Amino acid sequence: MSQPSVFKEKSPCSTRTAAAPEMVECPVCGEKVEIWSDEEEATCPECGITVTRQAR
Ligand SMILES: [Zn+2]
Repeated sequence: MSQPSVFKEKSPCSTRTAAAPEMVECPVCGEKVEIWSDEEEATCPECGITVTRQAR
């Protein structure tokens, strides 16, 4: 398997204003799901549902 190294280029020291992860509790299993600030949703590692980031 070839592994293309086309991951998002980020400088290691420029994470201040860059995307930051936000922990959201999965509404189904209660697992903490990490949603990056530049993403709107993430998949729960436990139950696999899509967790949406929302202010409440
Ligand atoms: Zn879950």
